[in-house]
Amino acid sequence: MEKILAKNKLDDWVAALSDYQVSAPIMEDDIWSYQSVNGTVQLEHSNTVQPPKGFSFPQREVFFSFEQIKGEPPKLTPIQPKAVRHAVFGVRPCDGAGAVRMDKVFSDNIQDNFYLSRRSNVAYVGLACNKPQGINCFCKSVGGSPVSSEGMDVLMTDLGDRYFVAAVTETGKALMSAGGKVFGEPSADDRKLLQKTHADAVAQPQRAINNLDAVPGKLKASFNSPLWEELARACIGCGACTFLCPTCHCFDINDESTGSSPIKGNRVRTWDNCQFPDFTMHTSGHNPRENQGARLRQRVNHKFQYFHENFGMPQCTGCGRCITECSVGVDIVNVVNKVTEHVG
Ligand code: SF4
Ligand code: SF4
Repeated sequence: MEKILAKNKLDDWVAALSDYQVSAPIMEDDIWSYQSVNGTVQLEHSNTVQPPKGFSFPQREVFFSFEQIKGEPPKLTPIQPKAVRHAVFGVRPCDGAGAVRMDKVFSDNIQDNFYLSRRSNVAYVGLACNKPQGINCFCKSVGGSPVSSEGMDVLMTDLGDRYFVAAVTETGKALMSAGGKVFGEPSADDRKLLQKTHADAVAQPQRAINNLDAVPGKLKASFNSPLWEELARACIGCGACTFLCPTCHCFDINDESTGSSPIKGNRVRTWDNCQFPDFTMHTSGHNPRENQGARLRQRVNHKFQYFHENFGMPQCTGCGRCITECSVGVDIVNVVNKVTEHVG
């Protein structure tokens, strides 16, 4: 299904999606983030600082609550995610690609029911990037495209005073059908302009990871390189790079409890972070990744070697957030290029 939507009809489409909680990028204190919208949606935005992964994989999620009186078996109360249907507007192609990678992690080998239950209620209404969203975009060099519909349910393209709107999935068709007469039929000129807009977008210069196909092997060969420590020297282990990454998915599970008899509490999953010193700390005190160089190597190798071995694609979608938001200038494009060039 392909349609034309006049920009002044976008709010009418959103109003017709009454079965969904609609979210879109909103600017507050100079920061773009996804927020619930009631009424007006503006899609003239830079990419958000936080990716949309939290809709399916929240930063903190309670699995079940428990209560135990001393000497008695615990009482467990399962907690299911609320079945809220989300339509997320303005998702950029790097984040659609991120959703595909998250889906692989949480459903290919192991079915994570908490993730899948949320994910089945999330629809992505993407927006092609007619120009790069920032100086650190590099989607083209990691197999993506600024106009890709990978991971989207709908892909919109800005054609000036109107959007070209294309359904990608059945969910996307249903979202568009709900809009009914707000849409018009695309003319031959609309289609010509779409092609030109996409070709111009793809031709925009970006930063680049060099020779992606050779990267996994070269990273393998550079495991013991002293470059890792050198390149990680400035890193303060804050973890912003992975918390803001659309594909980072490591988590921890803890029991949060109070009292002694009864003990009451919750079993909680929270995002974890391979850049934290205690991420791999053993109870004995031994840490197999004992310095920041080993932790940077893990982050990069996971993205460009281990994920490739497991799923046949890089785990990085080139959004550039981990570069832009790193307060000390650790730059994954430079790191990968330097380490792999060093191997020759
Ligand atoms: S690379 Fe940058 S963002 Fe990532 S942990 Fe180190 S200092 Fe923080
Ligand atoms: S590793 Fe960095 S550039 Fe790649 S997807 Fe994650 S945040 Fe974006």
